[in-house]
Amino acid sequence: MKDKDNKNADSNGYKSEGIVNVRAEISQLDAELLKLLSKRRAFAKIVALEKQQKNTPLRDQQRERVLLESLIEKASHSGLDSHYVTRLFNTIIEDSIQFQQNYLQSKNSPNFKTGESKLLAVLGGKGAYSYLAAKKYFSASNNTYLACSTFDKILRSVESEKVDYGVIPIENTTSGGITEVYDLLLDSKLTIVGEEKFPINHCLIAKPGSSINDISEILAHTEASRQCNKNLRKLISAKISLVPSTAHALEEVVKHPGDNLAAIASEQAAELFGLQVLLHNIANHSDNTTRFLVLAKQPVKVSLSVQCKTSIALSTGQEPGSLADVLGLFRNAEIPLSRLESRPIPNKPWQQMFYIDFQGNIDDARVEKTLKSLSKLCSFLTILGSYQTDDITATQVPPKSLAKVKLAAMELQSGGSTKNKPTEQPEKSNARRKSYHLASRQHKQQDTIIRVKNTVIGGDNFTVIAGPCAVESEQQILSCAKHANESGVAILRGGCFKPRTSPYSFQGLGYEGLDYLQTAGEKFGLPTITEVMNTDDIKQISKQSDILQIGARNMQNFSLLKAVGQVNMPVMLKRGIMATVEELLNAAEYILQQGNLQVFLCERGIRTFETATRNTLDLSAVPLLKQMTHLPIIVDPSHAAGNRDLVTPLAKAAKAVGAHGVMVEFHPNPEEALSDGEQALHYPEFTEMMKELYQD
Ligand code: PEP
Ligand code: MN
Repeated sequence: MKDKDNKNADSNGYKSEGIVNVRAEISQLDAELLKLLSKRRAFAKIVALEKQQKNTPLRDQQRERVLLESLIEKASHSGLDSHYVTRLFNTIIEDSIQFQQNYLQSKNSPNFKTGESKLLAVLGGKGAYSYLAAKKYFSASNNTYLACSTFDKILRSVESEKVDYGVIPIENTTSGGITEVYDLLLDSKLTIVGEEKFPINHCLIAKPGSSINDISEILAHTEASRQCNKNLRKLISAKISLVPSTAHALEEVVKHPGDNLAAIASEQAAELFGLQVLLHNIANHSDNTTRFLVLAKQPVKVSLSVQCKTSIALSTGQEPGSLADVLGLFRNAEIPLSRLESRPIPNKPWQQMFYIDFQGNIDDARVEKTLKSLSKLCSFLTILGSYQTDDITATQVPPKSLAKVKLAAMELQSGGSTKNKPTEQPEKSNARRKSYHLASRQHKQQDTIIRVKNTVIGGDNFTVIAGPCAVESEQQILSCAKHANESGVAILRGGCFKPRTSPYSFQGLGYEGLDYLQTAGEKFGLPTITEVMNTDDIKQISKQSDILQIGARNMQNFSLLKAVGQVNMPVMLKRGIMATVEELLNAAEYILQQGNLQVFLCERGIRTFETATRNTLDLSAVPLLKQMTHLPIIVDPSHAAGNRDLVTPLAKAAKAVGAHGVMVEFHPNPEEALSDGEQALHYPEFTEMMKELYQD
């Protein structure tokens, strides 16, 4: 379809009518997908009714696993990635369960979430998080809100039937349980009838036209302040004053436009009050969600097919092990707990009230039996409510069966068992059988292309990854990120966990460094890469960085390779100091075999008899690997040479032999660098290297 000479062709060389036609086909396909999804929902409805009749749960994770396995196998025949298929169908399954749950609940209790308009009591008025959460929970009806100034007033207005329901926060992912609410719940006869997990996206909000430098005072509700204080201190020097609610903070900003005030609230709230967002995402931690409870005078029955949560409060005897006995009852009945909170009992020093949330319905026989046994162990037990929950944990296909499914698909593709089929070319039939398969060109002819945010690694792209050897301070990595961004770097590097030859050398800032790297990447819009040395660190590093690096010293750390193979994110695998190209591909195979196909390689020099350079850069490995594997290969001239004067010529040579990119170290002040200073480029040298790399 590419046609550079055609008058109708656009700047990419595509004929405009051609694109129009293809787009029409895509739109047609999308419309068909929607029709199919809605048809799928109609079937889900029939299944829901059937399950309700038999009192069996809507969710059957065993069946979901089988379904996913078969879909992944089918998809692999059409070249679709297993992670993509899993993600897509997890979303479809989640929607289906939510749809079935809501359908059954609205059929059984038609006046609860749907039906007539409701009067809802919330903390603060329009714009407060409670208001937004209540609006979301009861989105199917048209509601009126009663703004309360305290949690206590919310409960009293439900008790006195002034309102239908109260919506009240109970816990937050970063600041924990809201103790006052726990105490109030115990004193009240109200029951919990629902929950809403509402993502809190705190913003700094001020009158239109103001800038950060104008702000002298920030008004915030205690919880909002607690969740943002650490981060705000870094961003702005204004003092924080506590106010009774978020809505109150917003009203004050509107009422006193001359006072240089700002409020902490959501973007939706800024819109409702005609204010302007000065800073987005100001919370100390990025994953910030508050769980709200919906309180009523009467319980709402939950179908036994629907996922249900029950909240109870209890106090045990004073004997040693009494809490363990309580927990043991749940374990023996295989009832999963989702929360355990303790609060001191007033007037009974050192005695605790325990609040427990568990998965289960009080109408279920197993739960009923457990609660009966529980009451015998407790000096006090009360049920706070049993209510529908939409916590739908995605079903995962275990990596082992994923690998099996993939191998089976490959066998089918090659027309029989791979066990008996030689994978070598016929003319090499005497050669040793390849010890890697998924990494080989024979297995996959097309180049693997890895997408990280807006960046692409592989194919015809030349990607520059750059940054300091190690993150040394917040200021240092921010400065590097700024320089990287201005020089056109695609990905920011920075080691936080450093593999050092001597235990007395700087070992990296660890998690503190990771926070700084994440901040710098986010601030300058650069995806980040950092080394992972330990399987225990993978989970956290994969949350805060975009690419995981396996360093040369760990190329054959097989448990680490298997562990990063189970993560759905790109991995850069560096060639070991003494590794052959074949060993490098076998190491990559370990990662691929676990289901992670987003792997790229890095040639960083190997140890030879030559000691004039730190290592010997094996540039022949680049064109060789491009024949042997579909995985992208980049070059690290910094660790290869160990000498900054050689970095630019080697980077240019890497590009000339067809590498998919380079990884280069630079530093604001290499003479003072805590690691690898001799090989780090000064800023002007780095800028010059970028120019030279991209000018031809
Ligand atoms: C690095 O890139 O930070 C590093 C330690 O390199 P290598 O593993 O190649 O020595
Ligand atoms: Mn280094």
